[in-house]
Amino acid sequence: MILLNSFNPQKPDIIENQPLSQYTTLGTGGTAEFFAQPQDISQLQALIVEAGNIPVYVIGGGSNIVIPDGEIRGLVISTRRMNSITWRNDLTAEIGGGYILSSLVNTLRGKNIGGLEFTAGIPGTIGGAISGNAGAGGHGVCEFVEGVRAVDGRGNMVEYVRGDFSYAYRECSLGGVIIASVLMTFTEGWKEDEYTVFVTRRRNQPLNFRSAGCTFKNPEGNSAGKLLDECGCKGLTVGGASVSEKHANFIINCGHATSSDVMGLADLCARRVYECTGITLEPEIHTLSPCFNVP
Ligand SMILES: Cc1cc2nc3c(=O)[nH]c(=O)nc-3n(C[C@H](O)[C@H](O)[C@H](O)COP(=O)(O)OP(=O)(O)OC[C@H]3O[C@@H](n4cnc5c(N)ncnc54)[C@H](O)[C@@H]3O)c2cc1C
Repeated sequence: MILLNSFNPQKPDIIENQPLSQYTTLGTGGTAEFFAQPQDISQLQALIVEAGNIPVYVIGGGSNIVIPDGEIRGLVISTRRMNSITWRNDLTAEIGGGYILSSLVNTLRGKNIGGLEFTAGIPGTIGGAISGNAGAGGHGVCEFVEGVRAVDGRGNMVEYVRGDFSYAYRECSLGGVIIASVLMTFTEGWKEDEYTVFVTRRRNQPLNFRSAGCTFKNPEGNSAGKLLDECGCKGLTVGGASVSEKHANFIINCGHATSSDVMGLADLCARRVYECTGITLEPEIHTLSPCFNVP
């Protein structure tokens, strides 16, 4: 299948050999064979139809993802331009999958609408947040989702309502589709005190370095950061990647890391925690993998 840039108002430009590190907060990763940034659901559908049987990948804000080094064969779609928001009533909005979560939080704060205070400081897009039920303090963004409009591997639009999908800690059952927009209902009254608590917690994180957030999920009743710290992982280094001295669950890019450095270091940490405690840590960071047409 050859992707051609013939004029089609329904289809965004397709760029060949696009370096992807700039689309991630970690700042590592290789080059996409094909790359496109649709602006709305119809452009997304047209792209997927055009892609045919080649592997298709999706990235949002790239804040929870490690993109392998080297060439990514297939089409990588960035949702960042799918960033519309339409208010349906005072508390309900339809939000594009590429809308930046922190912009939404600022809007809610300005309008005195509550609900997402716990997401203070979480980077990335709404689509990425829903796909991994991003959150903090026992809450996740999926709690506020009324409906989801997504696109499947054939370019068909699929709609879900609350109850059609399930979610848990850093998990959502909406797999094998690209989330195009989300209908969310919030609550009355922004809680500034709650927001401040979550903003303050960010001071423990190495925000002056590039990272992809927490490397591992917290095991039930335990803290991955604490386990990693107790097992002596702080400061461990592979190539240009190090375990932060500030927060052991963050792998930071010291400036010249590759994705294989990051993944090698994550493996080393998981092995060390297992040998030390018998606990298997599960990754929270995603490795870029195809939504459709797995090679
Ligand atoms: C400094 C820092 C702090 C963080 N703190 C937190 C925190 O407190 N809590 C937390 O939960 N996370 C945290 N994260 C991780 C990350 O910000 C969240 O998981 C975020 O919601 C990921 O969104 P994204 O758009 O960047 O997704 P990406 O990183 O682009 O993608 C993540 C996954 O979602 C998939 N995906 C992305 N968009 C879509 C879509 N539209 N449809 C279907 N699948 C999609 C991707 O294929 C990938 O598998 C932090 C990250 C950083 C760098």
